[in-house]
Amino acid sequence: MAAKTLEDWQKMRDGLSYRNQAFIDGKYVDAVSGKTFENVSPIDGRVLAKVAECDKEDVDLAVKAARRAFEAGTWSEAAPAHRKAVLLKLARLVQENSEELALLEALDMGKPVMMAKNVDMAGVANNFQWYGEAIDKIYDEIAPTGPAGLGLITREPLGVIGAVVPWNFPLMMSAWKLAPMLATGNSVVLKPAEQSPLTGIRLAELAMEAGIPEGVLNVLPGFGETAGQALGMHMDVDAISFTGSTEVGKYFLQYSGKSNMKAIWLECGGKSPNIIMKDAPNLDAAAQAAGMAIFFNSGQVCLASSRLLVEEGIKDEFLEKVKAVGKFMQPGDPLDPKTMMGTMVDKSQTKRVMGYIEAGQKEGAKLVLGGKQVRQNTGGEYIEPTIFDNVKNDMKIAQEEIFGPVLSTLTFKDTEEALKIANDSIYGLYANLWTNDLTKAHKMARKIRAGSVNINNTNGGGLVMPFGGYKQSGIGRDGSLHALDKFTQMKATYIALG
Ligand code: NAP
Ligand code: MG
Repeated sequence: MAAKTLEDWQKMRDGLSYRNQAFIDGKYVDAVSGKTFENVSPIDGRVLAKVAECDKEDVDLAVKAARRAFEAGTWSEAAPAHRKAVLLKLARLVQENSEELALLEALDMGKPVMMAKNVDMAGVANNFQWYGEAIDKIYDEIAPTGPAGLGLITREPLGVIGAVVPWNFPLMMSAWKLAPMLATGNSVVLKPAEQSPLTGIRLAELAMEAGIPEGVLNVLPGFGETAGQALGMHMDVDAISFTGSTEVGKYFLQYSGKSNMKAIWLECGGKSPNIIMKDAPNLDAAAQAAGMAIFFNSGQVCLASSRLLVEEGIKDEFLEKVKAVGKFMQPGDPLDPKTMMGTMVDKSQTKRVMGYIEAGQKEGAKLVLGGKQVRQNTGGEYIEPTIFDNVKNDMKIAQEEIFGPVLSTLTFKDTEEALKIANDSIYGLYANLWTNDLTKAHKMARKIRAGSVNINNTNGGGLVMPFGGYKQSGIGRDGSLHALDKFTQMKATYIALG
């Protein structure tokens, strides 16, 4: 099959129909209130669909359905091999529908459709496949009690779990949560971000087709302050897994304390350092990676390497190379297969990012690339790749998460100063370090207060590695087999034998 052209994607868009309702207990339904909200595309400002605006009543219905399904045991007590087969089928269905899903994602939040297909949808399918394949290969434990007894340490599904996700990788963040939650036998209520509900809603019917029983996966589009809060406060939800801002993550901790002490797992923001030492093995590769690590997905990435720390002496040379990546990544139509960078998610995000660009200039940083909105004639939300030089770490643009294509460049004179700057942040999600010196690399990696430290790369190793934050970047880990711990309870059963 020939690769799709811009015209092919446009034609596909014109023929799309949008699922726009909530999915509760195996059926698409309107919100109880009948309310809807407009789902606007940041590509050109068009209204894609009016989407069900769920609130507390809908959350109640979904949680009841999820609990019923959990207690019925059709999924929670199904053999691991059965859950595996269903998740593998879901992975296949995601692959088979990856063009439609990628297009929905591109229209909904403005990422390039080819990235949505090759990165997001490939990743979604891989998550369902990986956790599906894992779940019938995991054993429980026997405790070293001695001959007087038998101590069984077993893992049980938690029950009903809420998944609350952001708009930057809408279906991928959902899959990071749903795959391990479903693999371990839980029932789930997913609340997608208001900016990007379409793929989550569509996934529900693929999950049914794959064989996920009614009530096990429910999807509630709606707003955070209403539907999200109702899920967080619900007395019959056993845990919440949240990805989003640190501010909202803290709300969830409060919801838990004010309700039933549900477990709260948080993947929040970052302000990740990318440390370039003079002895980096390949400065061209490091610069290429540094550019991609801030401009990919328009910088709307929690692990974006938004602080570039360069050793004195190589800064000017290095920055020229990163600027070349920025120039190459100019924003374009997300449906054009050649486009490397799409839009901001919406008008308010554009305003927020432009506000930071203004703040950087006011604080005395030097704007060396970009800094402007472009393609405004399209009605879309485009901002150029933007680079600041001469940034000090106490400036707003070095401390606060911008969540846009804005890179702050700082310099350091030795490893000690590099570490001091790297760790001078309320966040601790991710860090990259480029050096040829193995001893230096290990020593520095140990001192960096972040959940992930990458040496001579920015990619983190993928799903086989745990991912999550130190400090205010979060609590708990997604990815790898460690993600399963969060969604299971540990049962200790002691049998006396003497
Ligand atoms: P957000 O505003 O925190 O929203 C995330 C989710 O929480 C959305 O579904 C949102 O609903 C909901 N929400 C908002 N306010 C709420 C409230 N008062 N009570 C309950 N739920 C509420 O984050 P965002 O703007 O979508 O995404 C950007 C942020 O996510 C960035 O800070 C980024 O770093 C972080 N992020 C982190 C990771 C990670 O893995 N660490 C990954 C991606 C993004 P609405 O859509 O209605 O607001
Ligand atoms: Mg939001």
